[in-house]
Amino acid sequence: MTATLSDRLSSEFVNTPLTDYSSPANAAAQREAVERVRNQLGVSYPLIIHGEKIHTSATITSINPARPDEVVGVLSSASREDADKALAAAAEVFETWRFTPPEKRAQYLIDAAELMTQRRLELNAWLMFETGKTWVEADADVAEAIDFLNFYAREMWRLSQEQPITHIPGEENKLTYIPLGVGVVIPPWNFPMAIMAGMTTASVVAGNTVVLKPASTSAVIAARFVAIMEEVGLPKGVINFVPGSGSVIGDYLVADKRTRFIAFTGSRDVGLRINKLAAEHQPGQLWIKRAILEMGGKDAIVVDETADLDAAAAGIVSSAFGFQGQKCSAGSRAIIVAQVYDEVVAKALQIAQKIVIGDPEVEGIGFGPVIDANAFQKIREYIAIGQQEATLALGGEDAGRAGYYIPPTIFTNVDGAARIAQEEIFGPVLAMIKASDFEDAMHIANSTEYGLTGAVYSRDETRLAHAAEVFHVGNLYFNRKCTGALVGAHPFGGFNMSGTDSKAGGRDYLLLFTQAKVVSAKKVN
Ligand code: NAP
Ligand code: MG
Repeated sequence: MTATLSDRLSSEFVNTPLTDYSSPANAAAQREAVERVRNQLGVSYPLIIHGEKIHTSATITSINPARPDEVVGVLSSASREDADKALAAAAEVFETWRFTPPEKRAQYLIDAAELMTQRRLELNAWLMFETGKTWVEADADVAEAIDFLNFYAREMWRLSQEQPITHIPGEENKLTYIPLGVGVVIPPWNFPMAIMAGMTTASVVAGNTVVLKPASTSAVIAARFVAIMEEVGLPKGVINFVPGSGSVIGDYLVADKRTRFIAFTGSRDVGLRINKLAAEHQPGQLWIKRAILEMGGKDAIVVDETADLDAAAAGIVSSAFGFQGQKCSAGSRAIIVAQVYDEVVAKALQIAQKIVIGDPEVEGIGFGPVIDANAFQKIREYIAIGQQEATLALGGEDAGRAGYYIPPTIFTNVDGAARIAQEEIFGPVLAMIKASDFEDAMHIANSTEYGLTGAVYSRDETRLAHAAEVFHVGNLYFNRKCTGALVGAHPFGGFNMSGTDSKAGGRDYLLLFTQAKVVSAKKVN
């Protein structure tokens, strides 16, 4: 290992800055990258198992949700036999990868982060085409991915140093963090770069091997990432890439006895299903599987009468409609005390009306389509439910565009117990709820089965201190929006039906991908 690598791994982690698109040079470079990527749309991507590229007859077509007849890429689709091969490869390669020195494993992440930084604008463009992210949202997703790689590389370095342990006379005691085994990584499509790369590289840097089953609607970006890991020389079989339908190969991968852990981020129902399947012992299975499960949210922003109401309204709108409301952290509920309810609603409506809807790959567009036809259908159903339950104050109508567009939609006078205030819609639908006072607002905020993010806008220190104690969410923000967690600064994960609170991007995260081994040597004369 070179001195420079250990220097880098022991240096403080710093977040990657977002691209400043107000710079004409940056904007021009992003426009060019969009055109370069446009010319690469439609190509095919094979499965990659033990380094072997396998083209299957069954395929998954990834489309652009802004123009559904534009094919972003065609992916080979794994059968159960392919999934079986991928597990076999991962199990075999684990026997050598587990003994690869931690700093060597970390080096691959550092190198990949560097390549991703160089190709940042192109990766951004892939996200725009495949998932309908605007420039700013795509850029933040890729920045977060780069951050995860740089952060987890340093974390593995930290965990590989001598660990604090009580010294006793006559013995030498040492604790090391060793890997678990084969991990099945199942990411969602909504942070198709950051969460996919984060869960995969956390697994790998800790010494595990991976079967990566990307979300079907965002598998091209995952293929581009796997290619980068290949390019930096990651040994074959450490990451095995098997796109395929969750319902066809998901259960199989989770249930197999070779699987040691599952790293999943996605919906509540799929998470609970994985948890159940993973708990079932298979004949010949040597371990209790570990399930790291990050799931949905019904996140709330609370506003009281002492707050900066303009800042609150801006935070509400940005949390509700960033990436079309398709964030686990999206502020889908705004809970406002009666005294200022009308004023905050009016301000929020005014800001939301100005959101610019359009083709996400075009500069300056603030709002794109939702991910696919299923999401479109489901969100429309919730809008119909909302029309029974509350007052439609904005949006709700057809966006009059060919893609899967649903305009920013706001319901007012929503009851805290209404379905649109309880169920995760995962689209641009905001429920504005009136609370009688701050205490009532806290009560409403805590009244869903989720507990992921939340925010409070208030100038009252006593209330903020109270909220810090009782607002039961994994990530609570004061006087700022409830989206946009930063690696390192805001370790991320939620309570209750939001998951196992794994705190991605924090110092607890890598421990979930390791097990601690203690060697105690008695001194002999
Ligand atoms: P999803 O429908 O649950 O899918 C997530 C992943 O699970 C996909 O790769 C999917 O594959 C796969 N899958 C589906 N059925 C499966 C099965 N039976 N066994 C194994 N895997 C299976 O969720 P999504 O729509 O992609 O993502 C949105 C959800 O993720 C929201 O609920 C959101 O709140 C949550 N989320 C949570 C966090 C967090 O940190 N807590 C972060 C981001 C997103 P296919 O694509 O092939 O179906
Ligand atoms: Mg797509």
